[in-house]
Amino acid sequence: MTHKMTLTTKILIGMGLGLIVGSLINQFALHIPFIQNYFVGGVFHVIGAAFINALKMLVVPLVTFSLICGVCGIGDIGALGRIGFKSFALYLLTTALAITLALVIAIVIAPGEGFKRGQSASTFVAKDSPPITDVFINIVPGNPVEAFAQGNMLQIIFFVIIFAIAMLMAGEAGKQIADLAEKLNEVMMKVVTIVMDVAPVGVFCLMAKTFSEQGLALILPMIGYFSVVVLCLFLHAFGTYSLLLSTFAKLSPLTFIKKMRPAHVFAFSTASSNATIPVTLQVLEKRIGVNNSTAAFTVPFGATINMDGTAIMQGVATVFIANVYQIDLGLTQYLTIIGMSVLASIGTAGVPGVGLIMLAMVFNQVGLPVEGIGLILGVDRLLDMLRTMVNITGDATVTCIVARGENTLDDAIFNDPQAGVIEDINLPHHKQAS
Ligand code: ASP
Repeated sequence: MTHKMTLTTKILIGMGLGLIVGSLINQFALHIPFIQNYFVGGVFHVIGAAFINALKMLVVPLVTFSLICGVCGIGDIGALGRIGFKSFALYLLTTALAITLALVIAIVIAPGEGFKRGQSASTFVAKDSPPITDVFINIVPGNPVEAFAQGNMLQIIFFVIIFAIAMLMAGEAGKQIADLAEKLNEVMMKVVTIVMDVAPVGVFCLMAKTFSEQGLALILPMIGYFSVVVLCLFLHAFGTYSLLLSTFAKLSPLTFIKKMRPAHVFAFSTASSNATIPVTLQVLEKRIGVNNSTAAFTVPFGATINMDGTAIMQGVATVFIANVYQIDLGLTQYLTIIGMSVLASIGTAGVPGVGLIMLAMVFNQVGLPVEGIGLILGVDRLLDMLRTMVNITGDATVTCIVARGENTLDDAIFNDPQAGVIEDINLPHHKQAS
């Protein structure tokens, strides 16, 4: 064990151990108060939640500085508009493809037929979702300080872009701020390194807590629904994205998937595209070779408006619940579901569990019983972790395609297996590690 392990390997080990420990607790120690109080609700909960906070702590400053650098790096408002337009269109397109794929496969396999409603009894109360018009109005922040304080990603992106454009217009004064932002960005990247250093323990605790609460036995009665969602996620991640990557970005999908691994681990263990932004950004820039000028915009944008995995869950859930309640859906309703899911993914941020709120919006629209969502609640956490991986893979795929079009993708970095291995902390007076 004295071999030097990369941080990614340590994080993977933390994840695997957490999964095993959590599942063992769920099987054998569910009713032992000591374990529940001191480990599941104690150490695992505290360290896991603090670790998520540490990741979230990085998001706003990192996105701000790196987006300022990105816009100044592009330096041309036309190119900025092009990147914005292309990524928006591609995000909509991939989500539409995802939900269509999910609907087609779910209709063919028809999960939920013959399902007895008593099998799963959680109740679901839908939270209010904002009307879609508000979503567009609220892209413009009434108070930028509030936007930053609340971490409202679309508002932050909007304000920072306007500010950075103004910096470009301001000449010398703007240039000085750009230099400062460049330095702040560099320092923020080091803050990411510090947080990454505790990631093996953080990820272990998150996994141990989730799996001690979510026994795999929960899946059994829902195996039909669960496996159709997983199948669609798999097909979309390995089929649709691979096709898009090799056709439009001219990249090897296999290398891409390998390079994405650290981001996947974080997405899976946090179930939040937003909290994963720092890792996705780093992976895209340092490992895949996308220039900051593209990734700084497309990654936070995608984490907010692009949720292909979530759309897939919605497609399958809609067909499943319709089957359970024996409600026939017609073509118009299916088209409405596609439109609604795409719109809903724009309006909601990438945080855990938000997919269910979006699903409630879709159900209201097509007249399915919202309380039906209670049926799938039990398995949602695990699916949330899986679909978040797909969500960020979608963001990364679109980023690569846009970067290829803009000539901001460095193939030498992409093809170098050693590029951007997550670095260990290297303190200035740190003694040389033996
Ligand atoms: N957790 C997902 C994400 O952050 C959203 C969801 O499907 O609930 O991307």
